[in-house]
Amino acid sequence: MTHKLYWQDPYRTQFTARVVARVEEDHRPGVILNRTCFYPTSGGQPHDTGVLAQIPVVDVTEDPSGRIIHWLAAPLPEDLEEVHGEIDWARRFDFMQQHSGQHLLSAAFQELLYRPTIGFHLTETSLTIDLPGPPPEAEAVEQVLDWVQGVVQQALPITARLYPLEEAIRLPLRKPPRVSGPVRVVEIQGVDWSACGGTHVRQTSEIGHVVITRLERRGDQTRVHFLAGGRAARDHRQRIHVTQQLTAQLSTHLQDLPQAITRLQAQVKESHRAVRQARELLTRAEAQRLIAEAPRTGGVDVVYHLLEPDTMWSMEELMKALISFPSVVALMGAMEKGRARWMAGRSANVPMDMLENLSELKETFDVQGGGAPDLIQGVAPDFDTLEKALHLLQAFAFDLPDLV
Ligand SMILES: [Zn+2]
Repeated sequence: MTHKLYWQDPYRTQFTARVVARVEEDHRPGVILNRTCFYPTSGGQPHDTGVLAQIPVVDVTEDPSGRIIHWLAAPLPEDLEEVHGEIDWARRFDFMQQHSGQHLLSAAFQELLYRPTIGFHLTETSLTIDLPGPPPEAEAVEQVLDWVQGVVQQALPITARLYPLEEAIRLPLRKPPRVSGPVRVVEIQGVDWSACGGTHVRQTSEIGHVVITRLERRGDQTRVHFLAGGRAARDHRQRIHVTQQLTAQLSTHLQDLPQAITRLQAQVKESHRAVRQARELLTRAEAQRLIAEAPRTGGVDVVYHLLEPDTMWSMEELMKALISFPSVVALMGAMEKGRARWMAGRSANVPMDMLENLSELKETFDVQGGGAPDLIQGVAPDFDTLEKALHLLQAFAFDLPDLV
């Protein structure tokens, strides 16, 4: 077994050790030492990184026999029997803060709300625990966080000790131990006892601020997303930065932001409504203009209109407006996103079966489309075909019997 220096002193960052074995897996070189400060991924806490003999350590694992394997970016020199190692302290201390914060927050949920922790996840960017039941009320969460902050301020010692199993089970452990031999118990003095093999800070004050950022409902469980120490501080600064921009943009105070945004949303909704209304009026006026300019035959106004590529009009809206007037046949086309789109419609009082026209169009030209007796639409292979197809429909319209 590798001697675990990180258990003896989690604040130790440098060490020298004897090379015990060299291994290789998937072309990745690994080395086993007689002792190490490198924590292997285990118990929910990610592995340390750092250097061994100046070579980056990219992963650290522990095999079932308790040997810790340091996976390296390059092989160790052949003749090297002793190595100097140094862990990335910023990364390790962050994990120590988050992990200790987790012990404390789990203890608080247990103590105040009788909710045991049934899951724990820690990565470089996230920290969560899972609780049974739906998300607790906001007020209860505030009490939990106040309790946590109280323990942080007391600067209580956090210690780790190995107990024989029969002694360990007499301690008020939050969870029964899952090992058969001696149990490593991490104690927040007088507050919490947890069987744990991870690394922790030496007193609660080093956990710093603990904040919950999200309560996520997951089936009949709740995932609590939270931050401790440096992560909480950085998150706080980021939120200040964001809210400063928002309060400046909306010329308001932090506490009035939600109201200001609600007001803004109402204004946007009202503007959208007004624009929609104006658009409808304009479209109707444009339809009237097109009808006035269209040739009239047998009492029917035959509108033939090709839309410009950058037009403000929507073909659908314009068509709807055109055939809402009586005695109109409207034929429209446009290039839209590289496709030759066409529409043909008629007013309710015009005796023209558009579906019949569509069959004729399909027989004569290579066009696609569908629709109803009063309105058909589709695409043509190119603009030239589109124009020919619309001209055929125009001829049909000119041939209509006079409206009486
Ligand atoms: Zn722990």
